[in-house]
Amino acid sequence: MLSRLGRRRFLGALGIGAGMGAIEGGCATASEAKPRTGGDAPACKPPAGLREDVAALVAKTPFVDTHEHLWEEKRRIEGLDDPKETNLPTADIGMLFSHYADSDLHVAGMRPVDLQRIRRPGLAPKEKWALIEPYYAAARHTGYLRNVRLSVWMLYGEQDLCEDNVEAISEKLRAGVKPGMNRRILQDVCNIEYCQVNDVSGEYLFRETAQPALLTQDISFVPLLLPSHTDIQKVGRQMDMEPGSFETWLECVDKVFAAYAPRAIAMKSQQAYSRGLDYARVEKEEAKPRFEQLLNNPGGVPAEDHVAVQDFMFHYCIEKSIEHKLPVKLHTGYYAGSGSMPLGRLAGNPGEMTNMLMAHKDARFVFMHITYPYQDAAIAAAKQHPNAWIDMCWAWIINPSASVRFLKEFLKAAPASKLFTFGGDYLPVELVPGHAAIARQGITQALCELVEEGWIDEGAVPELVERLMRGNAHEMFDYEKTQLNWG
Ligand SMILES: [Zn+2]
Repeated sequence: MLSRLGRRRFLGALGIGAGMGAIEGGCATASEAKPRTGGDAPACKPPAGLREDVAALVAKTPFVDTHEHLWEEKRRIEGLDDPKETNLPTADIGMLFSHYADSDLHVAGMRPVDLQRIRRPGLAPKEKWALIEPYYAAARHTGYLRNVRLSVWMLYGEQDLCEDNVEAISEKLRAGVKPGMNRRILQDVCNIEYCQVNDVSGEYLFRETAQPALLTQDISFVPLLLPSHTDIQKVGRQMDMEPGSFETWLECVDKVFAAYAPRAIAMKSQQAYSRGLDYARVEKEEAKPRFEQLLNNPGGVPAEDHVAVQDFMFHYCIEKSIEHKLPVKLHTGYYAGSGSMPLGRLAGNPGEMTNMLMAHKDARFVFMHITYPYQDAAIAAAKQHPNAWIDMCWAWIINPSASVRFLKEFLKAAPASKLFTFGGDYLPVELVPGHAAIARQGITQALCELVEEGWIDEGAVPELVERLMRGNAHEMFDYEKTQLNWG
């Protein structure tokens, strides 16, 4: 163990950063009517000594944010008063409950019709709050809702939401939608170096972002895997080809990778939302007639034939990832939303993951969201297989305590180089600050506990913080390549 003096020497005298200061003030009405939350101040003052030093180091170290779905800034600005932009939530407090928080509100009893009403224009912020408040009170201690509160505090200076401040918060949120908003929130508030974005909001396969240095992009390869009749036509049009046979479809897929891989940071699939990850090895001769049946009979092909094409296409795309040196990110574990998760299917993910690891030893796989709630098996996969990495993106707000336990257990079991520790996983950039603060708090707690338990030396902390928060991502993802090729 280093002495306190020695620790001070390497940690240095650091300012207290994002999300780690004590808070004053807050709602005088609604929240006082209820029991106040003891340890739930949106940002906790770290205890003195080791924890304070580590918290300060973690606060000043930038994250590489390995997973987001953030909207383009231009779309946010142009969508502010555009009645045709129905996919963006209105820029008021409803937006803060439009992603993830809405799931907890729904599970706590809020009606889907009211969840829709808080997304849309038509109600004043106070009217929206009246719909939200009972369910917010019921679910306020979850990671999703604490994240809303923390983000509000970090961006708008309010400790909690209540009837008296939802209008002011809404005005500040709306006023913040302007050029430079992404950079201000992500870099100035969250201390994020850059983000990796997986577009799910309309662009196809790859987003032509206006901010490639801040928002690097994944190739979203699900449309190549499905593929539905519509996908085949759409991918064909985008690549300026007519995939009239299986051979021309595969040429089309080659062209997708040739077109986007030079600028892509990784490739990503969330197909685990619709099937298991048990991609069988299917010969091309078997997939070809089934694909062509799909091509010629939209809607009229048995489901198992789709699966055979998916199986073939998955392995085909993994070969492409090796050729183009792209890490393959796969959604594993917990589902977004509510009322739609078949846990039995998810339980199969870890075994299926290890099968693909052994089938493609030259591919680099990133299993997202710690495969929660099967994170023990994810640790086993990362410990056993040189080509497996685990990403803690989203996990910090799904189950914050499990994430702290996971981080400690991972570091004791598998090489620290196999882990990425943060991805906000949000559409609205306004919700990333709280998530980054919760992650920083969890990383601090996990590392301090390992020191306090005598498992790691204090002197190992700075190297671990650097590696976990950005060093591993620097090694894995070729950011410089993407920047050169964006030109
Ligand atoms: Zn995601």
